[in-house]
Amino acid sequence: MSHFLNEDQQLIVNSVREFCQSPTVQKMIQEEKAVGGFPHQSWKAAAEQGYIAAYLPEEYGGMGYDHVTYYSIFEELCKNSYPCTGPISGHILGIKAIEAWGTDEQKKMFLPQLGSGEKICCGAATDPAGGTNFSEWGLTEEETEDGWILNGTKVITTNAHNADYKVVFGRPQNGAKWYDHFYVIPKDAKGLETGEQEMKLVPDGSDWGTMVLKDVHVPKICRFERGDKDALWLGTSYMMVALQSLVLGEAGFMYAFGFATQRSRRGGKLIDLQTVAHKIADMAIRNEAGRGLIYTAARMWDEGRKEECSRLASMAKAFICEAANKNLHDATIIHGGIGNTMPATVGVLWAASLQLELAEFPCDMHRDFVIESYGVDLDWKTR
Ligand SMILES: Cc1cc2nc3c(=O)[nH]c(=O)nc-3n(C[C@H](O)[C@H](O)[C@H](O)COP(=O)(O)OP(=O)(O)OC[C@H]3O[C@@H](n4cnc5c(N)ncnc54)[C@H](O)[C@@H]3O)c2cc1C
Repeated sequence: MSHFLNEDQQLIVNSVREFCQSPTVQKMIQEEKAVGGFPHQSWKAAAEQGYIAAYLPEEYGGMGYDHVTYYSIFEELCKNSYPCTGPISGHILGIKAIEAWGTDEQKKMFLPQLGSGEKICCGAATDPAGGTNFSEWGLTEEETEDGWILNGTKVITTNAHNADYKVVFGRPQNGAKWYDHFYVIPKDAKGLETGEQEMKLVPDGSDWGTMVLKDVHVPKICRFERGDKDALWLGTSYMMVALQSLVLGEAGFMYAFGFATQRSRRGGKLIDLQTVAHKIADMAIRNEAGRGLIYTAARMWDEGRKEECSRLASMAKAFICEAANKNLHDATIIHGGIGNTMPATVGVLWAASLQLELAEFPCDMHRDFVIESYGVDLDWKTR
């Protein structure tokens, strides 16, 4: 039993594992993988279980769970390589933005369908000028009598094509933050086009691509503004990426441990070499430290200690995403030449771990967020 979960939470996690490993679900996953493309069947099955946004209240399509429980559900889906974990993560960024800045009317308009997973969402921030280059984002927003006209492009967005509602973050101006305002745009909006799918370094069948907005008209009700609210919720989205990395880092440990304890070496085993054993011990240490960061941050959120959660979430994103990469790098080296062959999962996972270092901002950006949380004004960010 996980030392971060109580008995009820552990029972929920066990039921997620049973769901993922049931013959019916396994058959569905295999069939879907053979066809390729967005995992609609897996998405629907997870939605029927209430997993997609289980932390939301029932009126918004969730199960009313706390964040510790929600993250443990998501982690279990990741551990079982359930096909739509990347899409769920992209979906949650959009949902959390709506939940945070929406008026009651706006939330009622979008959240019930999105929270239940009946509709799919995305959060599109990254601009061709650079995801972290906020001041040079190119989206133009022209106010009209009844709304806004948008022109511009958003790139490498998860669920770009399949999202029924696109959460498109506006251009931050006059010292505003990238998340201060955004628009919710339906898939069939006039002037909205989705480009080619981007191919990832390690293809995983996910939907990842570009959206071009040409004179897209957005009614007033679909523009969301932060106003005087705090932005501490962002950390709860970053942690979705950290959790995916944690699972990869744990896979690194398991592959390395399994191989080093089996592989013969001069009458003993590879793990008898202290340098190898220490590398593997370091993997376990990084995993446990990362797990502690995530589930402590989640508990902080559930207890209303949002500032502490926000700081720990960025620490988790920076630490775990790099730790997973280090674990998988070392695990691949421990496998020797075999680790470098195409069928060796460990080497492929190492390459796959890179993308999570970038998704929802690179780790160095999160180091900025951590320092800022101690009250330091980073002058290089204004240059
Ligand atoms: C798998 C995946 C899924 C993604 N999904 C989404 C999504 O759903 N929605 C979305 O909007 N975007 C998404 N992204 C894009 C991601 O958020 C961006 O890649 C990321 O924010 C960096 O932006 P960029 O790639 O334009 O790099 P740039 O902003 O050009 O930055 C390039 C590099 O500069 C360095 N750098 C930048 N800022 C700093 C800093 N403060 N300190 C030190 N170094 C710095 C970093 O090394 C960084 O990687 C996804 C990316 C990946 C890989």
